Amino acid sequence: MTVEGLTVHYGGVCAVRDVSFSVPAGEAIGVIGANGAGKTSTLKAVMGLVPRQVAGLRFGEVDLSRVPARAMVRHGIGYVPEGRHVFTGLPVEKNLLLGAYARRWNTDTRATLAEMYELFPVLGEMRHRLAGALSGGQQQMLAIGRALMSRPKLLLLDEPSMGLSPKLVEDILAVLLRLRTEGMSLLLVEQNAKLTFEATSSCLVVENGEVAMTGTSDRLRHDPQVRRIYLGL
Ligand code: ATP
Repeated sequence: MTVEGLTVHYGGVCAVRDVSFSVPAGEAIGVIGANGAGKTSTLKAVMGLVPRQVAGLRFGEVDLSRVPARAMVRHGIGYVPEGRHVFTGLPVEKNLLLGAYARRWNTDTRATLAEMYELFPVLGEMRHRLAGALSGGQQQMLAIGRALMSRPKLLLLDEPSMGLSPKLVEDILAVLLRLRTEGMSLLLVEQNAKLTFEATSSCLVVENGEVAMTGTSDRLRHDPQVRRIYLGL
């Protein structure tokens, strides 16, 4: 995916200003930055969930700049929103199946469901329980599983580690690394810089809605300024 000149205004507030980046096929790219830096707005703007201006938005050969949010899934883009937003009144399995709504129910859907239970065994164990009965970490797994049910080529994740214990953050990291080995492209928005550096190959650092720094995750991880501000070292 390539994003050129992305800008978001909320009334008079400019939350994202002229941001450009690309997610090469099969790569994982991170977006880190402080609270309010514009990370969520960047992701929502890519998805078309907030009004935006964009000079270019392409995925492979496809121009996505006029594609509405609900149709992004058909172009191979999956989205895991901040705060999970699982359907708490529906069973786990129904939540997963809703993620496949853009595809017809067929044996392929059944196979994808089986893959989800292999990737997230706890979801298999709790498939008939209401999603609202799951812990925060389990709900995050469910939100990721639901997005994966559409078999995306690129998965956008908004702060999947939010509110999770260090152990569960490790579990999320393991899932992201496995998706990478399977060739999926990832765009990961996070306040947790440590997780992001481990999960991605390159990152953007956003400050006040602008790209303040870019580099490989290995280089940024050792950058003194990044270490001080984002790793507290
Ligand atoms: P967080 O980690 O808290 O999610 P963030 O880096 O994702 O932060 P955004 O949520 O994108 O940042 O917010 C960027 C700026 O836009 C902030 O100043 C925020 O207050 C403002 N903002 C976000 N959403 C709205 C909205 N719906 N209306 C007005 N201002 C908004």
